[in-house]
Amino acid sequence: MSALVIEDVEDAGEVIAVRARTRDEAVACPGCGAQTARVHGYYERMAADVPVDGRRVVVRVRVRRMRCPVLGCQVQTSVSRSLASWSVTSGASRG
Ligand SMILES: [Zn+2]
Repeated sequence: MSALVIEDVEDAGEVIAVRARTRDEAVACPGCGAQTARVHGYYERMAADVPVDGRRVVVRVRVRRMRCPVLGCQVQTSVSRSLASWSVTSGASRG
């Protein structure tokens, strides 16, 4: 969780939208362990949807999709590991 950088916080009335991204640092390939900082692309992921003080705080994290530099590695592209282990609830709004 410490590897996040808050990029933007938008107060949209009942909902507070927080945008964050991972730090631009190398991560280890889950397949072969090679360190890589080569970014293959990005996608956005809902990381949290938490009610605070009667308002909803929605956190969206831009997750890097990394590319392993090792030829023949079984995990040529992988999601940044620290985020892959996050538990993500379904995006359905409750109450
Ligand atoms: Zn690899």
